[in-house]
Amino acid sequence: MSHLGLRLSPVTSRPLGPTNSHTGQPLSRSVTFQFALDPNVEQRILLAKCAGARRFTLNHHLARVKANLDARSAEREVLSASGVSGEPSTPPLSWTGFSFINEFNDWKNGESEDSPVNEDGTRGLAWRHELPGDVFECASVDAARALENFSASRRGERSGTPVGFPRFQAKGKVTPSFRLRNRATPGRVPSSQPIRFNGPSHLRLPKFGPVKVFGPTRKVRRMIDAGRFHVYSATLAQRAGRWTVSLTGVAARLHQAERSRTNRHAVPVGVDRGILSLCVAADANGVPFENFEGVRLLKQAQASLKAANRALARTTPGSKGRQRARSRLAKRHRRVVNIRRHLVHQASRALVDRAQVLVIEDLNVAGMARNRHLARSISDAAMGELSRQVLYKARWHGVEVRVADRFFPSSKTCSGCGEVRNNLDLSTRTYSCGVCGLSIDRDLNAAINLARWQPNEAPTVTLLGPTRAALRSTA
Ligand SMILES: [Zn+2]
Repeated sequence: MSHLGLRLSPVTSRPLGPTNSHTGQPLSRSVTFQFALDPNVEQRILLAKCAGARRFTLNHHLARVKANLDARSAEREVLSASGVSGEPSTPPLSWTGFSFINEFNDWKNGESEDSPVNEDGTRGLAWRHELPGDVFECASVDAARALENFSASRRGERSGTPVGFPRFQAKGKVTPSFRLRNRATPGRVPSSQPIRFNGPSHLRLPKFGPVKVFGPTRKVRRMIDAGRFHVYSATLAQRAGRWTVSLTGVAARLHQAERSRTNRHAVPVGVDRGILSLCVAADANGVPFENFEGVRLLKQAQASLKAANRALARTTPGSKGRQRARSRLAKRHRRVVNIRRHLVHQASRALVDRAQVLVIEDLNVAGMARNRHLARSISDAAMGELSRQVLYKARWHGVEVRVADRFFPSSKTCSGCGEVRNNLDLSTRTYSCGVCGLSIDRDLNAAINLARWQPNEAPTVTLLGPTRAALRSTA
């Protein structure tokens, strides 16, 4: 497999070690299952409290660290002003997840000097027993991780845009969410695990009891019972009013029959992002493989999103009508996001199911984010997600993925005669060749060129006239 530095992004960052389930299955794949929740009134209140507790814990650690950094830098200034060399007398704080968990536990249990004191004279956080303790511990780990990213970026050990000091979590500004660990190692029978299914439509979570889930759970329950999936943690998040749970864990390898299908496409298949459709695929013989349309539903959803946007603009600021319009807009936006994600999953699955070799573009994600052409940025985003999914699913199914280098002129090359054009406007939907007279859909042409790309091919673009950014926007 050729990945050319394109990082495989697994669904979780948990390092995968050799683990066996209660049926002895080796578990090696990170997998996430997501379900929408239908909580009852009490559970809804508890969900909101947990999300609040996560924000509270994160802010607690950030404030401590910030005060410590400020104190040390102030002392350093005084020292340097007086010409004395030496370290500040305030010791630095430890930023590890472990030390954060211990510090917060002592603080909330009333065992540290600065623990809160309640009205009745008791010490510690009064409401700590109402919530699963894991909410605090996972938030502490997340705070440590955010700070580690910040400090790695400051030390210059992190590529990409510099990471600033983590933001304080303001209510209403961040997505309400929190995480609970399963607190069971693989190998324990599912029925004794803290996070487990309770019948076909209920998920049991610590302190919550059974929470109703929407959608079919049969597949994931069967995987859990057969020891082919072990849940590490559940992340709960509320978007556009709807709570969802993501069950993240490790799964067994796909069945051999899935990995070694015999009816796969024999020639390499190139996948290009489409502006009008999700993506266009074609093989090296120039035969269209599949055009992932499926955008009618998306277009309808986008149209209704636009209408909701206009309706919001007509309301009076601060009115009840504006509140309603805003929540309607959020719901429709969520729907567009959900439909797009579903389409991308369908397309990536179809590609790895039917091709033996896939060729995709190496997308420069940082460069794409700066692209201000709207249709382009949407198709970039969809293609970025599609590449990510194709890469991990291909690994599951034993399919080879070749990543064409960034400067391969897939759009500008004629798939008929190989002539490379200098410029090709984004609005030009049909590629017309002045040399051989070929007239072909722009995206299909690019997909065919990608399918024919050879891993050892030297870059054919000389970077003289146009800048890299200009090349990216037309290549
Ligand atoms: Zn030509």
